[in-house]
Amino acid sequence: MMDFSKHIDSVVFKAVAKQVQELGVEAYVIGGFVRDLVLGRPSKDVDFVTTGDGIELASKVAHSLNPRIKVNYFKNFGTAQFNYQGLDFEFVGARKESYSRDSRKPVVERGTLEDDLNRRDFTINAMAISLNGNSFGQLIDPFNGLHHIDIKLIKTPLDPEITFDDDPLRMMRAIRFSAQLSFSIEEETFNAIAKYNERISIVSKERIVDELNKIMLSAKPSVGFKLMDKAGLLPHILPEMSRMKGVEVKNGIGHKDNFHHTLEVLDQLSKKSDDLWLRWSALLHDIAKPLTKKFVEGQGWTFYGHNYLGAKIIPGIFKRLKLPLNEKMKFVQKMVGLHMRPIVLSEEEVTDSAVRRLLFEAGDDIDLLMTLCEADITSKNEEKVNTFLNNFQLVRSKLKDIEERDAIRNFQPPVSGETIMSTFGIGPGREVGIIKNTIKEAILDGEIHNNFEEAFQLMLKQGKELGLLPKNQKG
Ligand code: ATP
Ligand code: MG
Repeated sequence: MMDFSKHIDSVVFKAVAKQVQELGVEAYVIGGFVRDLVLGRPSKDVDFVTTGDGIELASKVAHSLNPRIKVNYFKNFGTAQFNYQGLDFEFVGARKESYSRDSRKPVVERGTLEDDLNRRDFTINAMAISLNGNSFGQLIDPFNGLHHIDIKLIKTPLDPEITFDDDPLRMMRAIRFSAQLSFSIEEETFNAIAKYNERISIVSKERIVDELNKIMLSAKPSVGFKLMDKAGLLPHILPEMSRMKGVEVKNGIGHKDNFHHTLEVLDQLSKKSDDLWLRWSALLHDIAKPLTKKFVEGQGWTFYGHNYLGAKIIPGIFKRLKLPLNEKMKFVQKMVGLHMRPIVLSEEEVTDSAVRRLLFEAGDDIDLLMTLCEADITSKNEEKVNTFLNNFQLVRSKLKDIEERDAIRNFQPPVSGETIMSTFGIGPGREVGIIKNTIKEAILDGEIHNNFEEAFQLMLKQGKELGLLPKNQKG
């Protein structure tokens, strides 16, 4: 018997052990926490299963630790949860679930520890550690989870077809764990995913996106996406991505496979950034390529405007996936919309005015945009890659120069609408807009500096052209 008592030596486990003894019931620490303990991974949530009442046990344990702990009760689910020293502790009565084909909601009854382990998704998640009397610290591992951790294998405890049919989200979880832990999925388990892939459509988008985001945040996200593709889950979740697959050849000219290119970009970016939304930007940066693809004689394959169209179709994708429709989405749209700009810049002569305009549009997100664009270079030609990266260095240092001189990043008009109106004694109207725009354009083109004095002079000049005179010069 494996003994884990040393690993569960903290006050909370001891408090649970004491309370179950007094209540005459049993409790186990179970699931993800046990898996992560074996793997030596930190975990923030600890789940307990008891043969008694989860709510009663949680309240007694919390009270014995500190009467002021706030316990959250979820009566409908028979669970209770509290936070202690930065960890999340959850208690539930052991249960047995039975599913019928016509309802997604299982019938939940009280069960034994064994029943509770049977309904879990994978063998590595179906281990428990006893907190009871003499067996305190002993591992209960009915499905060989420990061995499967050793050989890095994801496998369902029962028949995979039943396990996935009962809760199709488990198909996504299999792939997520495989991506997060670098485990492989056992063949029979994988075949069952491929067989039931379309059942993912009955699962709520929120649950799917939770898993998708965990794949996105893994060290090498392409692993998860390739598995989703291979198992046929991808078309049900992100059909736009599936459509990027493949290469078309015309007159002997092919284009790159945009699915694989995208995954390469995502992996390269993930080495540089943990930002979930920058990773989403990488995933979606070429999403409109299939929609804009055109073969032009003498030029080959073109994807004109795929960045703009990409930014445009992102809200539809976010809405469908129930991703946030807020500034996170706007950020992704901005990155996708601008992702061609630094590349074009680095190909041509890097003019100050082009750099100023890029800074103006990207604002504080300029560094993230540059990181994305550097990851976007996936050529196999080393010389080409180096040329690009060197040019990007040039763009970056120009950006720095110009920012220091002109402070364009968070551009504020140096002359306000108020000033324009009071100087000429006019009310709001198109003249104010024209003058403001002239000033902005002149600054971006480097004709004047971003300061009040120069902007004020330009205002007077442009006003004159519009037939406006300063108030104090009027007859
Ligand atoms: P992580 O915390 O890294 O997301 P986890 O495996 O701990 O991974 P939780 O959602 O915390 O995931 O779930 C805790 C445990 O509950 C799992 O280890 C597993 O035993 C069980 N579990 C969670 N979701 C499911 C599911 N859809 N089907 C079956 N068992 C599940
Ligand atoms: Mg967990």
